[in-house]
Amino acid sequence: MYQTQKKKLKKLKKELEKRIKEIKLSLMKKRSNDWEEAAVEAENDEVLEGIYTETSRELLQVKHALQRINQGVYGECEQCGATISPKRLKIMPYTTLCIKCAQAIN
Ligand SMILES: [Zn+2]
Repeated sequence: MYQTQKKKLKKLKKELEKRIKEIKLSLMKKRSNDWEEAAVEAENDEVLEGIYTETSRELLQVKHALQRINQGVYGECEQCGATISPKRLKIMPYTTLCIKCAQAIN
């Protein structure tokens, strides 16, 4: 069960890890000496840091979902135990909440 999701999640995990690595690398790049350029770079860094945080969070969710597949509880809502609809899992393979609980949080 959930072989497709597992494959999808693994692929996603690789992509996210790659993206994180790339962001880290560009954040480590040395700033330009020209202050105008440096200012633009600082702005870019802020954007990158935002993306970095978001991507790391996504990666955690993906890892968590993979764990749940291995534990055999994938597809069950973490909050109420209801079955998460396959449609929802298809769109968001790393979700751990059914639509009702997810909406309750938001
Ligand atoms: Zn639920």
